[in-house]
Amino acid sequence: ANSYPKVLSIQSHVVSGYVGNKSATFPLQVLGFEVDTINSVQFSNHTGYKVWKGQILNEHELDDLTDGLSQNGLDNYTHLLTGYVGSPSFLKRIAQLVEHMRNINPKLIYVCDPVMGDNGHMYVPQELLPIYRDTILPLADIITPNQYEVELLTGKKITSVKDAWDAIGIFHEMKINTVVLSSTELGTEQFLLGLASSIAGGKKTKLSIKIPRFSASFTGTGDLFAALLLSWMFRTENDLKLSLERTIFTLQAVLKRTLRRAAELTKLGHPDTAARLELQLIQSKADIENPTPSITAVAH
Ligand code: ATP
Ligand code: PLP
Ligand code: MG
Ligand code: MG
Repeated sequence: ANSYPKVLSIQSHVVSGYVGNKSATFPLQVLGFEVDTINSVQFSNHTGYKVWKGQILNEHELDDLTDGLSQNGLDNYTHLLTGYVGSPSFLKRIAQLVEHMRNINPKLIYVCDPVMGDNGHMYVPQELLPIYRDTILPLADIITPNQYEVELLTGKKITSVKDAWDAIGIFHEMKINTVVLSSTELGTEQFLLGLASSIAGGKKTKLSIKIPRFSASFTGTGDLFAALLLSWMFRTENDLKLSLERTIFTLQAVLKRTLRRAAELTKLGHPDTAARLELQLIQSKADIENPTPSITAVAH
């Protein structure tokens, strides 16, 4: 029996900085999860820097790791979290892995961040789209696409809040219980609009949240969002409103601290923008552990 929730997180690793597993592991651990990580890539740093170097894990290497876990009976997880995946064959293996993990624990919660692109631009191979749409998403309990990823997955452009709710309805028809659009451009200059919807036990919840927008572009925030949402959905027994508000509170706190630090580094003459804007995650431990939300999610 599991005394702690235990998550398998399959995401990028970076030696320096905070994206992928480096962004997700610390908050999950702080919130009481055992975290086992498989690094889909290992890079020196994220891809927003002028140079990045490293290795990509292929599907056979993934099989080796999961086979080792399996032979020792170490593959009993309460949660699976997946983020950036760069190849079709690797993504197909994840589908098989979900089925394997569900055989071991039928109550497994699969949180899928279908990372494909942002702002009208795809940064993974196009072949990933039909695999996410037809094979992976139907296996997921919670998904966290951004606005562009929703457009790709539904084949429909989103230009209004109504379009977004309609798209969310399509995902629910695919039997995905919880759909969260972590940020959309449907707000104003001052706010990003977050949308969240769940159907559970015949009960429907639809929420929106106005997220104060900072005029900087961060990396690793999507990964942090998915990890926090997973944690709070578990800890609140699927209270979507509390989970969304706590997740957004922590993100705001991390980003405020990150911007303060970036301003200090600028004063000191630190030249590299990407390095200056690395998330101040460790420094935000208290804001991860004890979120005190001030922004309320509104019911629809
Ligand atoms: P994915 O990695 O799944 O593609 P995404 O593109 O939706 O995710 P982000 O745009 O990074 O991810 O948003 C995730 C969360 O990060 C948002 O819900 C928001 O709370 C926070 N965030 C990111 N950028 C900003 C910003 N400029 N101002 C305020 N909040 C931000
Ligand atoms: N993984 C790697 C290796 C990256 O370089 C990036 C972004 O540059 C990400 C993941 C994604 O980060 P985000 O959470 O901002 O979507
Ligand atoms: Mg984004
Ligand atoms: Mg991401």
